[in-house]
Amino acid sequence: MNSVAFATHYPVSCPGCQTITSRRASELLQARFLACRGCDMKIELSESQLNRMRRTIADLGDCQRRSAEHCPAPVDNDAGSGD
Ligand SMILES: [Zn+2]
Repeated sequence: MNSVAFATHYPVSCPGCQTITSRRASELLQARFLACRGCDMKIELSESQLNRMRRTIADLGDCQRRSAEHCPAPVDNDAGSGD
């Protein structure tokens, strides 16, 4: 699993009370369920929800990699050192 899954909080809405509970994507992919923070109901994630999550994580990872390639290396701006 990539680092994006650990850094990304994925929102899941409760079918009972519509409260949105966010969890780390890595936790959700592993546990496949979460407890609603509104009504404490156990929300099980369907295979299609899990697949969508995996795809989102993969896309985000791709994006991150691509933007890292396009970003120039940080410039060492030493302008404030004069007297
Ligand atoms: Zn709920």
